[in-house]
Amino acid sequence: MPTKQKRVRLPKNPQPQEWQAADLSEQRIASYKPFNFVDGEGVRCSLYVSGCKFDCPGCYNKVAQNFHFGTPYTQELEDRIIDDLSQSYVQGLTLLGGEPFLNTQVCNRLCHRVRQEFGHDKDIWSWTGYTWDELMKESDDKKELLSLLDILVDGRFLQAKMDLTLQFRGSSNQRIINVPESLKTGNVVIWDKLVK
Ligand code: SF4
Repeated sequence: MPTKQKRVRLPKNPQPQEWQAADLSEQRIASYKPFNFVDGEGVRCSLYVSGCKFDCPGCYNKVAQNFHFGTPYTQELEDRIIDDLSQSYVQGLTLLGGEPFLNTQVCNRLCHRVRQEFGHDKDIWSWTGYTWDELMKESDDKKELLSLLDILVDGRFLQAKMDLTLQFRGSSNQRIINVPESLKTGNVVIWDKLVK
C-alpha cells in the first residue's frame, strides 16, 4: 500500500501590496527589551511590535502574530526608548515582532525620531518576514521604513531550512542585508560582518 505523504504547511505568501499596515495595525507593542545582546550587533534596545500575517510554522513569537496582543504604543514608551538609546554603550535600536512592516505607523515614527535625536550615531536593525524583492514591490510606507534602516534580516522562517548555528537568523533562506548599500546599488548587499 502506498504511504501517505504528510503535507508540510508553509508560511503565507501575500500578493504585492495585499497586506497594509493602515488596515491591520493596532499600533500595539508585544514587548520592549532594553539593553540586550541578542537582537543584532552590540548592546541593543529591542521593540517587538504586535501583529504578523505570515503565520510561519515554528514562529519564535506566536503570541505576537495577533495585532491585538500587548499594549498600545505611547509617547511615554517612545521617550523611554530614546532615553535608553542615549546611553553610550548602546549601539542601536532593533525592530522585531510581529511584523515591523505591518506596523509602519509605529516603526516609521520611532525611526524618524531616532534619526532626529542621534543621526547615524545609533544604528537601526529590523527583522521582517518579507523578502527584499517583495519589499521592492510594496507600498510607500514600507519603503519609507526600509529607507530608515541600516540592517534588514529578511524572509519567512522556514522549518525545513532551520539552522540554529546561524548568526541572528533561524533559517538559512534569511539574509542579513546592508540596507543603504543595497538601495544605492540596486542589488542585495550582505552585511560585511557575516560569519555564518
Ligand atoms: S514572519 Fe516572523 S513573526 Fe511573522 S510568523 Fe514568521 S517567524 Fe513569526
